Amino acid sequence: MAVDGGREHMVSTGPEVSAQLRAQAAAHSAHNYDPLPVVIAEADGAWVTDVEGKRYLDMLAAYSAINFGHRHPRLVAAAHRQLERVTLVSRAFEHDQFGPFCAELAALAGMEMVLPMNTGAEAVETAIKTARKWGYEVKGVPDGQAIIIVFDGNFHGRTTTIVSFSTDPDARDGFGPYTPGFRIVPYGDLAALAAAMDDRVVAVLAEPIQGEAGVLVPPSGFLPGVRELCTEHGALFIADEIQSGLGRTGTTFACEHSDVVPDMYILGKALGGGIVPVSAVVSSSDVLGVFKPGQHGSTFGGNPLACAVAREVIAMLATGEFQERSAKLGAHMHDRLSALPQHKVNDVRGRGLWAGIEFAELPGRVACEELAKRGVLAKDTHGSTIRLAPPLVIGEDDLDWAIDQVEALVR
Ligand SMILES: *Cc1c(COP(=O)(O)O)cnc(C)c1O
Repeated sequence: MAVDGGREHMVSTGPEVSAQLRAQAAAHSAHNYDPLPVVIAEADGAWVTDVEGKRYLDMLAAYSAINFGHRHPRLVAAAHRQLERVTLVSRAFEHDQFGPFCAELAALAGMEMVLPMNTGAEAVETAIKTARKWGYEVKGVPDGQAIIIVFDGNFHGRTTTIVSFSTDPDARDGFGPYTPGFRIVPYGDLAALAAAMDDRVVAVLAEPIQGEAGVLVPPSGFLPGVRELCTEHGALFIADEIQSGLGRTGTTFACEHSDVVPDMYILGKALGGGIVPVSAVVSSSDVLGVFKPGQHGSTFGGNPLACAVAREVIAMLATGEFQERSAKLGAHMHDRLSALPQHKVNDVRGRGLWAGIEFAELPGRVACEELAKRGVLAKDTHGSTIRLAPPLVIGEDDLDWAIDQVEALVR
């Protein structure tokens, strides 16, 4: 296990330290999360160690932000190199990581232009602003009339505009007044989408696989149908691949499974290598070309440290090895999960190293607490569903061991 200086400063590392730290967090942090009672002190690859010295296999990977594992040596080295050079200049000036980052990300996505931000929600906001401006300036929608179609069960982040079109009461209720300009249709329902299309629709915003909703994979014709309807109606197809993209499903983008190319990708999470928040909108120069200086921005967006780490992420993805590993280990994981006893498990969904398991009775929270006791970290979504999204670098034996622990819950 990696030992660093931090450990020497700790007075003791027993259960009472864990309890103290959790009590401190409960007293002084807003209760907008309800974390499992595990206080992590160190991490390496697919494993984390808590303050008591107990090890856990990380089967959540920070909702796919840790696709390459904790502290991947290549990513840590890239960050260290950049820390010794320059970390932040703002976009008021150019820096030597910016051009290469944008060019390399555009090339990975098969697109032309990049607009970098920090968090996923900011990139979604950027996509919304882009689509509206494009709608008024290029499509010719009357000012203030633009509509963006989104889907039931969506998760695109937490800003006031984004929660305005959430269908999850926890995410939405109590945060109005809400931003207008969105139409919600059932996920996977092409007839409903076709009926919702009109001249004011500037974009359709979709997750190719709905993550927070419980790793919902749409019917096979859905994404090609969205592509067709968008093309037919002159609307932008925006794929939110913040969680599904960058190797998670066994391909660089989840859209590839359906042979679909959207007009815009929204990326985040794994793009920062688990080290810094990095997000981006990637599209054509026709679309992102709508922005003129001063019309959108971010102090930290596209900073040198973020670009240096993201460039290493892009280089790692360019070889295809992580995608291949996700596809291979993911197929094995899904083989085993689909053999779970059917009276205990209603459904297993997903692609690559990404699975939603819907238990028949077991509440997801209880399942995750049980798994934590067994040394596996996972996260519930709604009701009786848990999701598994291990780092793509997870060892095959470790993966099998984690699935053994899931099996033990339903035996
Ligand atoms: C996580 C996520 C977001 C929001 O990203 P943040 O970095 O948490 O703001 C948006 N869309 C999808 C699909 C996500 O999974």
